[in-house]
Amino acid sequence: MGKSNELNYTTLFDAQGECFGVLVSPALWEHLKGDAEAHIGHGCEPEQPPEPLAEWENLKSSWDFKYPIDTDVQCGVCGASTEDWEKDDPRKFRLKTANFTGIVSFQCLQCKARILKRHFTDKITVETQPYQETKTYKFDAYKGR
Ligand SMILES: [Zn+2]
Repeated sequence: MGKSNELNYTTLFDAQGECFGVLVSPALWEHLKGDAEAHIGHGCEPEQPPEPLAEWENLKSSWDFKYPIDTDVQCGVCGASTEDWEKDDPRKFRLKTANFTGIVSFQCLQCKARILKRHFTDKITVETQPYQETKTYKFDAYKGR
């Protein structure tokens, strides 16, 4: 049979009978390649540190701002937005930092921009910083206060 032109695959098993891979025919690979590369692109991103959820919980439990806990996030770059970032499935934003002084930052999972929310006593300021390959974050702190 002319195998390379057929859409087929072979599941590979080790001696213990555990599946350790799948061999796809070149013809099938042509169909899958785009998807596979998209997945690999996500999977191969630098190891992300875990979300600092404990710090977020700390901030919430010591909340002494004059407004309710805010859970909404908007990306000023690509326009992604959520009412409650923790409840999204799949998540649109990833918590990057949560600081008891009221600075909470997120990464937009769509365009990688960094969204920085600063909680002041009576207001919140939000700043979106477009993703930069160089990882030089600039914090022009308290601009416009
Ligand atoms: Zn975005």
